[in-house]
Amino acid sequence: GHPVYRDMPATIFEKMSARARETGAINLGQGFPDAQGPDDILRAAAEALLHRSNQYPPSGGLPELRQAVAAHYERHQGLDLRAEEVIVTSGATEAIAASLFALIQPGDEVLLLAPLYDAYLPLVERAGGVARIARLTPPDWRITREALDTMIGPRTRLLILNNPLNPSGSVMAREDLAMLASFCLDHDLIAICDEVWEHVTFDGVRHQPLMAFPGMRDRTVKIGSAGKIFSLTGWKLGWMCAAPPIATLLGRAHQFLTFTSPPNLQWAVAEGLGKPDDWFTAMRAGYQASRDRLVRGLGDAGYAVQQSAGTWFVTVDLAASGMALNDVDFCERIIGEAGVAAIPISAFYPDAAVTHLVRLCFSKSDAVIDEAVARLGAFR
Ligand code: PMP
Ligand code: GLN
Repeated sequence: GHPVYRDMPATIFEKMSARARETGAINLGQGFPDAQGPDDILRAAAEALLHRSNQYPPSGGLPELRQAVAAHYERHQGLDLRAEEVIVTSGATEAIAASLFALIQPGDEVLLLAPLYDAYLPLVERAGGVARIARLTPPDWRITREALDTMIGPRTRLLILNNPLNPSGSVMAREDLAMLASFCLDHDLIAICDEVWEHVTFDGVRHQPLMAFPGMRDRTVKIGSAGKIFSLTGWKLGWMCAAPPIATLLGRAHQFLTFTSPPNLQWAVAEGLGKPDDWFTAMRAGYQASRDRLVRGLGDAGYAVQQSAGTWFVTVDLAASGMALNDVDFCERIIGEAGVAAIPISAFYPDAAVTHLVRLCFSKSDAVIDEAVARLGAFR
C-alpha cells in the first residue's frame, strides 16, 4: 500500500505564501489572481450587503443561487440539474469534506488519482476512509483501466476526480472520461468530481463534466467554485450537485460543517453566473495570454515548461531544463535567491514520488510575470 499521513500536514500553499509574505518574494505559488475580480460582481455583493438580509440563508443556499447554478450548467454543459440538486457550500473545500463525511463509513476505500490536491488525503482519512492512490503518468497525465482495476477492493465506494487537474493543468480526454465512467459503473462507485477549473480552459478546449456520461447522472457529485469562475478566491463560495438521494445526504453533512455561507456573496454569484457567453470567452482569453507570456518568457530563459490546457498553472520540468535540483530544493533556492515563490509538485504526492516538476501560477499582471521571468532567468 501507499504510505499515508498519520497527522494533518501543514498545507504547502499557506507555507509558501507565508514565506513569500516574509521575504517579499513574487508569489507564483498559491493560486490566486492579483486583480480585484469583476467589478459588477463586487458591486452586487456590496449592494446585497447593505440592502438585503444578512441573517442565515437556508442551509442549502439561497434558492436564487441554487437555481442560477442549475441554469448555468444547463447553458454551459448541457446538464439537466434542478435547483434542489444544488447545495451551496463555503468553497469547494467544504464540498469535498461534506461529500466524504456524507458518503463513506469508516473503513470504506476511496480511490484517488495522484497528483492529488492537498486537501483530499487528510479529509479522506479523517472521514475514516482508506485511501487507494493510483498514479497519472506525466507528461500527459493519463491512466489505464487496467491500472485502476487493480486498485479496487470489496469496500471501494468512491472515486475522487479533479478535472481540469491541479497542478498539471491537464484536461482529461473524452475517451479517458468515458473509461472512468464505465469503470465507476462496473464497480458501483460514486464519483466526486472536483471541477473547480471547469471554466478555465485554453486553446478551444471545453470542459466535459463526468456527470454527463452515460450512467453517471445518479452517481456523481459535481463540485464547483465561484472562486475560480470569477477570480475571487477569497470568497470561498462553492457548491455540490447530485441527484436527490445523494444530495439529501450531502445536505445533512453540510448543515453540521458550516450550515450556510454569507448571503451577500450568494446573491452576487447568482448574478454573475448569468453573465453572457462572451464574458467567459474573454476571461479564458485573458488567462491564456498570461499563460503564453509566462511559457514564452521561461522558455526564452532556458526552462523547459509543460504547456497547460487549463487552470492558472504551468509546470517547469527541472530535469528537462538541465537543472540538478529537485523540486523542493529548487523552490527553496528561488524564494531565497531569486525572490520568486513556487510550489513543488512532490507536495501533491503522499510519497513525494515525482520530484522534477515545479508549479508556477500565471494569473498575474504582465508586469509581475515579466519580473518573475527576469528573476528566474537570472537565477539560472
Ligand atoms: N480543488 C481544487 C482542485 C483546487 O485547485 C482548489 C483551489 N485552488 C480547491 C479545490 C478549493 O476551492 P475553494 O477555494 O473554493 O475551496
Ligand atoms: N487551490 C489553491 C492552489 O492550488 C490553493 C488554495 C489553498 O491555499 N487552500 O494554489
